[in-house]
Amino acid sequence: MSSSAHLDRLIEALQVMPGIGPRSAARIAYTLLDHRRAGGLELARVLQEALSKITLCPCCRNYSDGGFCALCSNVKRRQSGLLCVVESPADVQAVESSGTFFGTYFVLHGHLSPIDGIGAEELGFPLLTERLASGEVREVILATNPTVEGDVTASYIAAIARRYQIKLSKIASGVPFGGNLDSVDEHTLATSIKQRRAFD
Ligand SMILES: [Zn+2]
Repeated sequence: MSSSAHLDRLIEALQVMPGIGPRSAARIAYTLLDHRRAGGLELARVLQEALSKITLCPCCRNYSDGGFCALCSNVKRRQSGLLCVVESPADVQAVESSGTFFGTYFVLHGHLSPIDGIGAEELGFPLLTERLASGEVREVILATNPTVEGDVTASYIAAIARRYQIKLSKIASGVPFGGNLDSVDEHTLATSIKQRRAFD
């Protein structure tokens, strides 16, 4: 039998973390209790604040502290007319780290997957359509992951962009098929963006 109901609850709660099962959760719980109580309390405060205050930017759907995110608030980025469409916030970070792109983004938070109930609405297509209709975007760079689902999603976005006669391009190969944008190194991704080709 367990020595503490609080400890049991802590071990169970820690398993919300990806890749953390009961054994790892127990190890983390003992480490926090034995050596890192102050750090653990700080983590609890930061978690509480981050999870209650971080929302989606109403322009690009990346995470923001409320209202427009820092990238969308940058006038020069908006004026560039470049819009890079990615599947996840981690992909935005990867493209930013490559240092080759100075425009704005649109974050889908996934890809079309009818079987999982993920359709146009879930991916924010109505908001994306609004942005494309605004006249602010002159080129859409499709940077969905090189997977079957990512390609299908890119084709749907291309169809929307064509309605507004917006130039379309797709990041060049270099990201292996089936891989993720955020799993390739910065140099490869930078080349892939620089050598983007027209999407037809
Ligand atoms: Zn934004």
